[in-house]
Amino acid sequence: MSDKTYPPSDEFVANAHVDAAKYKEMYAASIEDPSAFWREQGKRLDWIKPYTKVDNVSFEPGAISIKWYEDGTLNASANCIDRHLETRGDQTAIVWEPDDPEADARHITYRELHEQTCRLANVLKDMGVKKGDRVVLYMPMIPEAAYAMLACARIGAIHSVVFAGFSPDALGARINGSGARVLITADEALRGGRKTALKSNADAALLHCDDRVQCLVVKHTGGQTTWTARDHDCKALMAEASTDCPPEEMSAEDPLFVLYTSGSTGQPKGVVHTTGGYLVYVAMTHELVFDYHDGDIFWCTADVGWVTGHSYIVYGPLANGATTLMFEGVPTYPDASRFWQVCEKHKVNQFYTAPTAIRALMGQGDEFVTKCDLSSLKLLGTVGEPINPEAWNWYNEVVGKGTRPIVDTWWQTENGGHLITPLPGAIATKPGSATLPFFGVQPAILDPQTGKEITTTEAEGVLCIKNSWPAQMRTVYGDHERFEKTYFADYPGYYFSGDGCRRDADGYYWVTGRVDDVINVSGHRMGTAEVESALVAHPKVAEAAVVGYPHNIKGQGIYAYVTLMSGEEPSDELRRELEQWVRTEIGPIAKPDLLQWAPNLPKTRSGKIMRRILRKIAEDDYGSLGDTSTLADPSVVDGLIEHRLNKG
Ligand code: ATP
Ligand code: MG
Repeated sequence: MSDKTYPPSDEFVANAHVDAAKYKEMYAASIEDPSAFWREQGKRLDWIKPYTKVDNVSFEPGAISIKWYEDGTLNASANCIDRHLETRGDQTAIVWEPDDPEADARHITYRELHEQTCRLANVLKDMGVKKGDRVVLYMPMIPEAAYAMLACARIGAIHSVVFAGFSPDALGARINGSGARVLITADEALRGGRKTALKSNADAALLHCDDRVQCLVVKHTGGQTTWTARDHDCKALMAEASTDCPPEEMSAEDPLFVLYTSGSTGQPKGVVHTTGGYLVYVAMTHELVFDYHDGDIFWCTADVGWVTGHSYIVYGPLANGATTLMFEGVPTYPDASRFWQVCEKHKVNQFYTAPTAIRALMGQGDEFVTKCDLSSLKLLGTVGEPINPEAWNWYNEVVGKGTRPIVDTWWQTENGGHLITPLPGAIATKPGSATLPFFGVQPAILDPQTGKEITTTEAEGVLCIKNSWPAQMRTVYGDHERFEKTYFADYPGYYFSGDGCRRDADGYYWVTGRVDDVINVSGHRMGTAEVESALVAHPKVAEAAVVGYPHNIKGQGIYAYVTLMSGEEPSDELRRELEQWVRTEIGPIAKPDLLQWAPNLPKTRSGKIMRRILRKIAEDDYGSLGDTSTLADPSVVDGLIEHRLNKG
């Protein structure tokens, strides 16, 4: 892994909210007296009844309990909308960029956001939705998705957003799991010029749900025809509804939403986030990690179906009175220039995306980027997987012209917001490292064998967090035991992330992937991410996934799945070249024992490579692939199995 450092420019530092000295001082203060630190940060929000208590947390096995600002009351939607009306009523809250580049973009002001949210909140109330009820959202990336989330928050209903790419089965399971009585969906979603029949999927899902579930349908494309007794026309009802809906007074610890993890490692978990601490934390990280300044245009390319969309399209930016961009489409439609065209068109200042998108676009060539005017960009960000240094360098040089800080943010659905990340004006970055902890976060690296914390600066092991932060998940929906078992049982007294990690001599953290992704080859422990990064660094390789498999002599062997750049053809010669390449890049120990050409890799709907499935294929174990319901394209797996059987 690269150890070259990239400090922010003097110009960036001069304007930044936090510089190196301030980071050190504030971090120390946040660790010395967390209650005082977070008491102060809580003032970012408007409270109905101010809190007197700040943190009340127990990581004690059998008694896990996490509470922040517990005696305060507030409303999240009022914090994201109402409090901005006086000063920002006419400012754009949401820029909406449609799938079709020829269609009109929309600029929704805070005043309009207020009006629409209140209307939808009143529609929900009229349908009988009350404080504490669950509402499932199955929505395209349209403004109504944000209105729906905020409308739920306004009346105290708990939203559970299900990514619109999920199947009827996955949707039905989540409706039943949450006991929701209202589903909000749209006729169709439009992505990359292709329509997905959301309403038909919803109909299929609802066949397996309680008859009393009602369905609010947003007519978006106009393409849906079937209509049943439980369906309501969302826009028509909104048009008739009142624009006045007083926000419900919520306790800081009332749930704001339930959201399922992406399922890369097993069955998705229903993560519960509450109101006060979550909102304080996402507002703070949005401002400081992206160095957001008043008037900036912020674009997070995630889908609202993921936590990244919750925290950094909706709640964080809107709590800060920011302008947030919401994009309906995909990075490669009409062509691989779309992201950059949108940046140019809307003069985007901060751009936040995932390594999977960067790798895909990198494979298409630089011209798609260089033909656009990206001069408005001030900062780039990534989240979701470890970013290979090769992809980082491309992002930095081709997109950022070598002058924009890159924030590689490590966090999880469970965390609510960034935990390990550079602060762009304070911390010199290293390609592939998420660098240092955010304020109030105390990472710990534990030895997986002994379970003991490794206290030397240089360390390698499993990544845990020693203390709580305000946006930490509170429980698994309806299953507190699973919460305790998953996150607090293996290493008592710590929050266990499930990720492997290395800390270098500068104290920088390098997340190496899931703990399960560490392989042991002839007694050498090695993160699969390292081998993948070496492969991706080869000019003909677009993507790679590496897993371990049982090997008679070495204990574990290295199995590499390789996707080539568009236009490259697999050959035995290239196979040998790649094996040799890894030998030279890392060492003979890392040479793949088996290398399989993979036209595509199995990914979750959020774009993460599902290594647990690749592991099964490598082990020749096709019978028990586990939960595959969150796979983006299940046929990819069949293709790989077939190839494996033919020893391709
Ligand atoms: P499941 O928990 O159901 O298996 P998941 O872990 O993929 O799904 P998420 O919460 O979406 O669900 O993803 C969090 C994980 O993504 C982290 O645990 C980590 O493995 C990875 N990750 C996120 N950001 C980064 C980053 N900047 N660097 C390295 N890894 C990252
Ligand atoms: Mg996870």
